[in-house]
Amino acid sequence: MMIQLTGKGVYGAVAVGDLRFVKRDLGPVVRRQVEDCEAEYERFQAARDQAVAELGQLQAKALAEAGEQSAAVFEVHQMMLRDEDYCDNVRSVLASQRVNAEFAVSVTGANFAAQLSELDDPYLRERAADVNDVSERVIRCLTGRAGVGLGADEPVIVVADDLSPSETVQLDKSKVLAFVTAGGSTNSHSAILARSLGIPAVVGVGPLDPDWDGEYAVVDGFSGQVLIRPDQPALRRLLEKKQSDEQRKQLLEELRGQPDVTLDGRRIEIHANIGSTSELAAVRDNDAGGVGLFRTEFAYMEAAQQPSEDELFEVYRQVAQELAPKRVVFRTLDVGADKQIAYLDLPQEDNPALGLRGVRLCLRRPDVFHRQLRALLRASAFGRVALMAPMIASLSEVQRVKALLAQIKAELLAEGCPVAEPIEFGVMVETPAAAICSDRLAPEVDFFSIGTNDLTQYTLAVDRQNLDLEEFCDPRHEAVLRLIGQVVDNGHRHGAWVGICGELAGDLSLTEHFLRLGVDELSVAPTVVLPLRQRVRELDLAEP
Ligand code: PEP
Ligand code: MG
Repeated sequence: MMIQLTGKGVYGAVAVGDLRFVKRDLGPVVRRQVEDCEAEYERFQAARDQAVAELGQLQAKALAEAGEQSAAVFEVHQMMLRDEDYCDNVRSVLASQRVNAEFAVSVTGANFAAQLSELDDPYLRERAADVNDVSERVIRCLTGRAGVGLGADEPVIVVADDLSPSETVQLDKSKVLAFVTAGGSTNSHSAILARSLGIPAVVGVGPLDPDWDGEYAVVDGFSGQVLIRPDQPALRRLLEKKQSDEQRKQLLEELRGQPDVTLDGRRIEIHANIGSTSELAAVRDNDAGGVGLFRTEFAYMEAAQQPSEDELFEVYRQVAQELAPKRVVFRTLDVGADKQIAYLDLPQEDNPALGLRGVRLCLRRPDVFHRQLRALLRASAFGRVALMAPMIASLSEVQRVKALLAQIKAELLAEGCPVAEPIEFGVMVETPAAAICSDRLAPEVDFFSIGTNDLTQYTLAVDRQNLDLEEFCDPRHEAVLRLIGQVVDNGHRHGAWVGICGELAGDLSLTEHFLRLGVDELSVAPTVVLPLRQRVRELDLAEP
């Protein structure tokens, strides 16, 4: 009988093979009475130094295999082991209970993990698993036992209750077809690692039966399903999915590193739209030329309260730094309308899509805007940052945002905080007003980015949220396409480059039209980058 488990897909790909439960060789931690506590502390110090050295090696391995973001966790682990509180706690358990170092480390690790898991902050709560992970490593160094293993000659689907980041890195990836874990969140470090390594993974499938070890299974990292002993129709369906995914990857291999240029030599930038650091791997995997739209509102929507300047800075810095020297266009906060945030206390409105949204909200709430602009400008020193404002309808709004940017820049420089110079500044063209007056806006900006999702909604007066109106919501409507043409002409006349970042940018039947209009950049979902590159490379604009 087929068994179906459902969890969350971490990395979209399909794998087929035998399940194998990870074997951990830690054994029980035995409590022993000791006489010489000082000698025991020295054993601890030696084991801790060895653990730190191992973590340094894992950091280098993760950096080479999966990039800076994935490697960062091992730096945090090393810091945890060097933490004075942690070491003092081990020492005080040794002294007060006169026990062996293994036991003192396991007590300390458990206490620290328990304290962390009670905190409100979800990020800190997740660090409980990290404390356990580093403590187990020190214990392994003390006992001389090996780490995690698969005991497999052939590649297998790795199954575990949970996998720590160090276990994930340690496993021989040539033997891993997929990961399946009972617990874990899609943002856990091991999930991030799986994603960056491009290994299909499903987390949070619930209780696992050890009897499944060795069973044949299919893992669907797209839908988060794991089928054990799949029946023929299910297997066929997933194998087809696997095949089409592999064809896409094949496409990727062939097109990776190829220029986005037509047969007759016309170049266009193809960039990606993302909204969080977890999508950085997708930008790299799909070989996007940069990020044409970073939707900054997601960090606000996921938080329970307004993120601090430092929290925002940390996200922006990481994105800018990891993608440098590629350009990242950060769009300033675009909430209101369909993106409501409870803690901002936005007003109840009869027509929120025509209400206090995008740049209007930011101009009304200088406290919120100021904080975000400081974070963005600080991050500009770490990569190639460009900024753009959403929902612009008037020249005065553009001027107000620019004045605020100049003021905050001066403020930061006076504080001794470096800011890039110059920083490209642009606006989204997503209201008919901005498109029609683009000749007036163009001299004020370095670029336009056309948001066809909203431009369609406002030009055709069709609510983009209302599924019932879909037949009337045609982003290929002549009115929208004419406005796009005008924006490109007006932008170019004043030396501004013009991109499209709405969904229409990925409509391959319009690629030729956009190229002929002279569009400079198309910014699309990461998975659309390569199909779009393929389309661009088969076009010949010299042909009438
Ligand atoms: C748009 O409106 O086209 C756009 C890219 O922005 P969003 O979809 O986030 O409103
Ligand atoms: Mg929009």
